[in-house]
Amino acid sequence: MSFKLSHSVKEIRGNGQVDRVLLEDLKTGEEFEYPTSGVFIYIGFHPNSGFLQGTVALDPGGHVVTDIRMETDKPGVFAAGDVRQYSDRQLGTSVGDGITAALSAYRYITEG
Ligand SMILES: Cc1cc2nc3c(=O)[nH]c(=O)nc-3n(C[C@H](O)[C@H](O)[C@H](O)COP(=O)(O)OP(=O)(O)OC[C@H]3O[C@@H](n4cnc5c(N)ncnc54)[C@H](O)[C@@H]3O)c2cc1C
Repeated sequence: MSFKLSHSVKEIRGNGQVDRVLLEDLKTGEEFEYPTSGVFIYIGFHPNSGFLQGTVALDPGGHVVTDIRMETDKPGVFAAGDVRQYSDRQLGTSVGDGITAALSAYRYITEG
């Protein structure tokens, strides 16, 4: 593993499959190709929750507010994973949230 600090990915290149990226050295402006067999794109932490505006409570960052049963402020509506307030935003925690939400939804349906 090597670190390319102060560099920006300008293009992902390859013929049907990525095999290199075009990098820009942000200090010198120099552009050069760097061989790689994969690219993970960091897209940030802003939740895609705009469509929920006005339906369930969101925190100032747009994350869905839930209790520990993953229930929102609207009874019968549950949220799980990265979109949830205070989520650790990891696969394992998201899966756990999903299990809790599913069981809570089951109880909501069967017990009222
Ligand atoms: C580059 C990267 C590396 C990561 N590495 C790790 C790691 O090493 N270990 C780890 O534990 N976690 C890692 N994570 C975090 C992990 O991927 C997330 O925590 C996990 O995927 C969250 O699961 P989720 O189901 O909550 O959300 P997502 O996986 O984001 O799933 C949400 C789904 O909802 C869909 N969606 C969005 N809006 C709508 C809509 N309006 N209608 C219908 N569908 C919609 C999306 O298309 C998406 O399929 C990484 C994340 C990234 C981006």
